[in-house]
Amino acid sequence: MRILVSGAGMAGLSAGITLGAAGHEVSIVERATHLRVNGSPIDIRGDALSVADKMGVLDAIRAHRVDMSERVQFVDAAGRTLVELPDSEFNDSIDDTEIPREDLARVLRDALDPATTLTFGESIAELRDDGDGVDVRFASGEQQRYGIVVGADGIHSATRGLVFGPESQFLHHLGLYVALAQLPNYAQPDRRNPMYNTPGQLAGIAAYRDKALAVLMFRSSWIDYDYHDPAAQKQILLDAFADHREWKIPELLDAAVSDPELYFDSVSQIHLPVWHRGRVVLVGDAAYCASPLSGRGTSLAMTGAWLLAEALRDHTDDIAAAFDQYQHEQLPHVTYAQGTAAPGGDLLIPATEQEIDARNSRLSALSANR
Ligand SMILES: Cc1cc2nc3c(=O)[nH]c(=O)nc-3n(C[C@H](O)[C@H](O)[C@H](O)COP(=O)(O)OP(=O)(O)OC[C@H]3O[C@@H](n4cnc5c(N)ncnc54)[C@H](O)[C@@H]3O)c2cc1C
Repeated sequence: MRILVSGAGMAGLSAGITLGAAGHEVSIVERATHLRVNGSPIDIRGDALSVADKMGVLDAIRAHRVDMSERVQFVDAAGRTLVELPDSEFNDSIDDTEIPREDLARVLRDALDPATTLTFGESIAELRDDGDGVDVRFASGEQQRYGIVVGADGIHSATRGLVFGPESQFLHHLGLYVALAQLPNYAQPDRRNPMYNTPGQLAGIAAYRDKALAVLMFRSSWIDYDYHDPAAQKQILLDAFADHREWKIPELLDAAVSDPELYFDSVSQIHLPVWHRGRVVLVGDAAYCASPLSGRGTSLAMTGAWLLAEALRDHTDDIAAAFDQYQHEQLPHVTYAQGTAAPGGDLLIPATEQEIDARNSRLSALSANR
């Protein structure tokens, strides 16, 4: 079957691999002009590890493993360590694997079937599903017909917008914003990844290998802005930290403002009752974003891509039955991942000074008992 995948993030690339391996003729379109690899390293957990194995990429993933999260320590304004973040707070099992986004994107792209096409700078402008196929008009003006369309275009999915309606119906804001930017020329003095809290805010440095990222998070109610506008994102960040000159906050804000590939978004989830309509189906954040706090967004994307390809194999002549099976089998993973997200906010960004102290006391006690 001719399949169009919209988005070449972790969900789109994974769907490209699994659907291509199942013998489909797959085309992926990515709106950006290159693979978007900024952001912090990614965790692959639980069933996604066995899916990665079946996709033939587990060894490559393990070969690029990093230990960024294991090095997190909460510090005071003078940079003194207050408490470490024990790995029991962010890992389910010692098999959980953390890999830089750039490495995972490359591993997945290299695993695509050579017949699968990947076109950058392209996106869907219009879809028309007539029951037997989907006619697509692209932003470039090109028109093609496909058997199915897979929307893997992230939390702000344009495919979802075209087929299911405005994202405000499905997006649940968890009360936080996150920014990640390259921190150039950072000479790491030791192996620590320091994180500094003020009530409702976190500023930190996440270093791995020879790279470092500025991490800025803050609590806020929903902010209306054009999420395609980097200048608006940077202004929101500057406003959020305007009263803070302590620790390394000015340096981290400078890095965020200077980074043309800044990652900035609300920490939100997507709750969509049904992930498919007609011949269009959603995979990854587009359908069931669990938020960065879950640490499971990429794992969900990989299991989703695998289960979708399996369901299409099980129901070659019945797309609706295939999509129902995909949702039925993926739903428990989604429910679990979305359910684990909320405590992450209290751990990383306590809302008050008392909550910061309570978090630190709890983590100290945990470390003492190890
Ligand atoms: C640049 C970036 C950095 C990220 N950094 C982090 C991070 O540090 N920590 C974290 O927990 N999560 C991060 N995420 C989210 C994380 O990647 C996802 O939760 C998870 O990997 C699921 O991936 P996904 O493919 O569903 O969505 P995404 O990773 O968001 O990928 C969606 C892809 O679709 C593309 N796209 C968007 N709109 C269109 C369109 N209209 N047409 C075609 N293509 C389109 C995007 O450019 C992107 O490549 C980041 C996402 C992005 C895009």
